[in-house]
Amino acid sequence: MSTEPSIRVEDRLIHNPCPIDPGRAHIKVRPHTTPSLELMRMLSACPAHCYTANEKHQIEITVDGCIECGTCRVICEASDDIEWNYPRGGYGVLFKFG
Ligand code: SF4
Repeated sequence: MSTEPSIRVEDRLIHNPCPIDPGRAHIKVRPHTTPSLELMRMLSACPAHCYTANEKHQIEITVDGCIECGTCRVICEASDDIEWNYPRGGYGVLFKFG
């Protein structure tokens, strides 16, 4: 049995500040009535939990805390469900190493 302390992803991510660019989300979910399988996968695949389902079961994104890992970009590439761009300079995740 391992004696290594367990570390949750959320506990590590909280140390990376993410200045938000007000009104200019760098990732947008395209309007939809019924979410695709790819969008549904984002509810569990995004490590920062940016994707949520609203009361109409449509998928929404809040980019606060996005670590720009690109997972949603890869998963939704073929379905074209999202518009993905890097944040403008000075905004977005600032990784701390060590
Ligand atoms: Fe989540 Fe990564 Fe997509 Fe950001 S780039 S919304 S962290 S899956």
